[in-house]
Amino acid sequence: MTIAIVGAGLGGLALARVLHLGGIDAVVYEREPSRDARGQGGMLDIHSGQRALREAGLIDEFYAIARGEGQDMRLLEPDGTLLLQEDTPDDAPLDRPEVDRADLRDLLLNSLPDGMVRWGHAFTSAGEGLLHFADGSSAAYDLLVGADGAQSRVRPLLTDARPAHIGQNVVEIGIPDIDRTHPDLAAMVGRGNYWVLGNGISLGAQRNGDGRVRIGLSFYNTAEDWFATSRIPFDDPAAARARLIDLLPGWDPRFTALIAACDDTVVPRALTTLPVGLTWPSTPGVTLIGDAAHLMPPVGQGANMALLDGALLGRALAACPEDFPAAVEAYEREMFERAGAAARMSADMQELLMSPDAAQKLLAFFRPD
Ligand SMILES: Cc1cc2nc3c(=O)[nH]c(=O)nc-3n(C[C@H](O)[C@H](O)[C@H](O)COP(=O)(O)OP(=O)(O)OC[C@H]3O[C@@H](n4cnc5c(N)ncnc54)[C@H](O)[C@@H]3O)c2cc1C
Repeated sequence: MTIAIVGAGLGGLALARVLHLGGIDAVVYEREPSRDARGQGGMLDIHSGQRALREAGLIDEFYAIARGEGQDMRLLEPDGTLLLQEDTPDDAPLDRPEVDRADLRDLLLNSLPDGMVRWGHAFTSAGEGLLHFADGSSAAYDLLVGADGAQSRVRPLLTDARPAHIGQNVVEIGIPDIDRTHPDLAAMVGRGNYWVLGNGISLGAQRNGDGRVRIGLSFYNTAEDWFATSRIPFDDPAAARARLIDLLPGWDPRFTALIAACDDTVVPRALTTLPVGLTWPSTPGVTLIGDAAHLMPPVGQGANMALLDGALLGRALAACPEDFPAAVEAYEREMFERAGAAARMSADMQELLMSPDAAQKLLAFFRPD
């Protein structure tokens, strides 16, 4: 039986690793031309996903790259009021450490035998036991696992559901090498997550392992075409930064100084999700893991679920190599329930962030008494 995994993200690689440990052959087809072709983005907080890394025999290696101090948090209001500051003691357990997405992906990639990931294979369609790729090549498969993320091309084989905009548009910017270039701002942001929540707008800043602070400015309750009407000139980074500052009237100058200090990378990101609790009738020969199965708002669940999906599907297949359809069905049953609960939790958090008094609500969430 040939298992084809489409997508070398966290979910696809966790699956590949657990199958490899279980002695089951599989091939990962990834559209990127090489492992270094694209920057992998920022930090991830990994909590329930640690179970997957244990299953993959990589938990000690994970703790070696995890950043406990990344759990620090500061929560402020736009006028500069500090609502909450939590600093992680050095001996705190690594319950939700942050990890650089690129480091975690490298850890998984390095744990696979050479050639298990076939780079430069962009999946386009499947039929009659063959996968087809954008370069015209094809490959045989018995079980196809779509691990191809938010815009999955495998998903339509199982469901008509499509990601829909959730009324949040994010502009991603960042300050490189902040300790050297802006020590005052570095001290203000601290070692972990820095949140300013206003009425309909938030600024989230986070220190990455490489000394870059990544900043996401979120505009809530905005339409899908908001970037076209926002008058942010994305092709002119300096003017874009000035426009972003204009969009924050009355914000404390320390926050707008963060924006002014950013470099020329300005990336718009419109957020979409799949319906909460999405399921499909189990179909022999194809299934989904990760964002392809359950795209959620980015509030700290997606990567954890993708890792768990991969590890648990891998374990189910390795335990039942003579009956893959039964293994897939058992995986889907568990995943629908687990990911459905995570998606509901994420949707509740998203609603909180979008509310007019988000800062006070988040404070009450972290300090319930
Ligand atoms: C800004 C941001 C911050 C986040 N922070 C967190 C966090 O702190 N904690 C958390 O748990 N989650 C977080 N998430 C969510 C998390 O990033 C995703 O849920 C997770 O990466 C999903 O993993 P995946 O393997 O399903 O998909 P992906 O990581 O998206 O990987 C999909 C892979 O498939 C490949 N691919 C796509 N199409 C094709 C094709 N046609 N053919 C071949 N290959 C293809 C892609 O190139 C990619 O390598 C965040 C998301 C965002 C946007």
